Amino acid sequence: MKRFLVICIAVLTMVSCSEERTKIPVYAWTGGPGDATDLELKAKFRDFKAKGIDGLMYNGGQNPETYKRVGALVKEAGMEFHTWIPTMVQGENPKIDKELYAHNRKGESAFDKPAYVDYYKFLCPNKEGTYEFLSDLYGRVAAVEEVDGIHLDYIRFPDVILAEGLWDKYGLVMDQEFPEYDYCYCDACTSDFKKKSGIDIKTVEDPSQVREWKQFRYDLITNMVNRLSKVVHKEGKVLNAAVFPGPSIAKKLVRQEWNKWDLDAVYPMNYNDFYLKDAEWVGTVTNEEVKAVNGSIPIYSGLFICPNPENKTNENDPENHGLLPSEIETAIRGSMENGATGICLFTPDRMKAEHWEAFERAIYTDYSKK
Ligand SMILES: [Zn+2]
Repeated sequence: MKRFLVICIAVLTMVSCSEERTKIPVYAWTGGPGDATDLELKAKFRDFKAKGIDGLMYNGGQNPETYKRVGALVKEAGMEFHTWIPTMVQGENPKIDKELYAHNRKGESAFDKPAYVDYYKFLCPNKEGTYEFLSDLYGRVAAVEEVDGIHLDYIRFPDVILAEGLWDKYGLVMDQEFPEYDYCYCDACTSDFKKKSGIDIKTVEDPSQVREWKQFRYDLITNMVNRLSKVVHKEGKVLNAAVFPGPSIAKKLVRQEWNKWDLDAVYPMNYNDFYLKDAEWVGTVTNEEVKAVNGSIPIYSGLFICPNPENKTNENDPENHGLLPSEIETAIRGSMENGATGICLFTPDRMKAEHWEAFERAIYTDYSKK
């Protein structure tokens, strides 16, 4: 009897230990390093790891040396290291000819007259020079030993329709595609489209009604991703991307047909507050995302965290909205029960102590037995 009890206790201990170890994969968007010393970075990365973060999407500019230094420290802390480098949005750079920037339907260059905000200087994805610049950039970073993967962001056109949660901020009602936000009407794009479809899009009264024109532009982004995928894979590294949700929303707002991209993982920004949706919606949209790739590529559900939960109801700027501590569990559970492989936090630095408490409970839960 005594031996039987000992065995029971041993089995129970094993079960509880293995349950304790069950944790969902967690990534986080973060950046730097600014003036931080190696010691400071090490402490920060150790803290992230202890909180349950398995990998970072790290925004550190375009210099491979930065990623070499920071990557070594991230790996030392036991996390994966992916470099988060914006793709189609590029500021003034001697390596980039001004002719490579996209043009809107009014004929204005995104370099001279960017839409919405100053940094919205988007390149045209139909220019060979754009590919050459990006393949050189990502190729050099992917060659860095400490880098596990390249994380694309702003791999899209400017928002032809803004997310509804942003309409008030910019004083716009975007119930249709307006010419100043509709790209790209450069000579290369319009003439290539005419050759392909026979349609002179510059003479069409409402181009938003031309299905082939939409598809042509989805394909330009898809082709760019798929060409960059070859560059990154050649270095033996993975390629993934931050995308808009859906892809129904991604196609409508920014012309990303990301379910056709050669990616190793997708990180949809399921930022419910931008779409005036509640935390339950995160699960609903994750369901669409997992189905869109037939479950063949991991989906990491991107969660937008509210930096000042106590002030959310008084806050007008949607950039300061996001998930409250009380909504974390709903968003994580919804993502996981609808087939996400894990989640990605935007950002760990926005998380308050109450967020981390709810987060810890939610990530150490087994969602496989729904
Ligand atoms: Zn163009």
